[in-house]
Amino acid sequence: MRLSAEILQELTALGEERTFKENEFLWREGDAGDHAALILDGVVEILNEPGDGQAPILIRTLPPGALIGELACLEGLDRSASVRARTACRIARIPAEAFRQIVKRRADLLENLFWEQIERVRSLTKQVSRTHRKAITDSLTSLYNFGFFRERLFLEVQRARETGDPISIIIFDIDHFKAFNDRHGHPEGNNVLMRVAEILKGSSRRGDIVARYGGEEFVLLLYGAAPADAWNLAESIRNRVENEKFTGGETQPMGKLTVSGGVATFPDDAIDEESLVTTADQRLYEAKHAGRNRVIGGYY
Ligand code: GH3
Ligand code: MG
Ligand code: MG
Repeated sequence: MRLSAEILQELTALGEERTFKENEFLWREGDAGDHAALILDGVVEILNEPGDGQAPILIRTLPPGALIGELACLEGLDRSASVRARTACRIARIPAEAFRQIVKRRADLLENLFWEQIERVRSLTKQVSRTHRKAITDSLTSLYNFGFFRERLFLEVQRARETGDPISIIIFDIDHFKAFNDRHGHPEGNNVLMRVAEILKGSSRRGDIVARYGGEEFVLLLYGAAPADAWNLAESIRNRVENEKFTGGETQPMGKLTVSGGVATFPDDAIDEESLVTTADQRLYEAKHAGRNRVIGGYY
């Protein structure tokens, strides 16, 4: 918050000077918000304390001139975070009542507080969406991860039950991938996983969920896709992978890098999300046993 020199002076005059040693807490999460603090000297850190013996999480650090703990004062709320002196600090401690009075008097201070809160909410919103994105994404391929797929599958099957729309899933597994890794090394294997992920993304429609199911297994969740639609898509993806020139693909048992796929549709092949996955998995297994580089579904 950028406060004018005039307000800083007024706040300083209202406050009682206190000093804190390095690492000393100004207050802890949950304490009563009975005063605000204007930092005169030193740096403080705002921390969240998760408890359970876990280390505190640093939210941000604040320099001299920063006003802290002011919201709890205004609303008579408990502290929402802890504040600790990062370096030795000097603060002006402003009692809650005196702070409420000055806010009533000074529209410019109130406006400042208002914009400060807008800024905090905006940055928090960004942080939350970044964290959420990370939590549902596979870091190697940038596809959705297994957890997200399972969550969406559950919701989509529920939706399909209500609307009567079909849902198909395709599970792909790279053929003889262990051989590829053994021959070319793990990093080269990772390049293949990334390229296969790109092919899957590039072949899907908007709204399809493409996820990394496990190590070298991928899954597509196709809302509204009937058995024939899903099988056709699976077959075209299998074909694209077969025709892709992967570095090192020529040493694979079949002379190229390939995938096998299993396709299943709700409600045609399954009564719930569990049996949908099991059926697709069984068909993938059949595709492997039938010689790999093929797709098996209810349709074919
Ligand atoms: P199949 O045709 O029967 O599927 O044979 P496969 O060799 O692909 O099957 P298997 O399950 O035995 O091997 C999977 C291999 O995938 C084993 C492991 O080394 C590799 N793998 C799993 N995750 C990763 C990964 O993140 N990066 C790389 N490079 N390899 C991985
Ligand atoms: Mg596998
Ligand atoms: Mg495999």
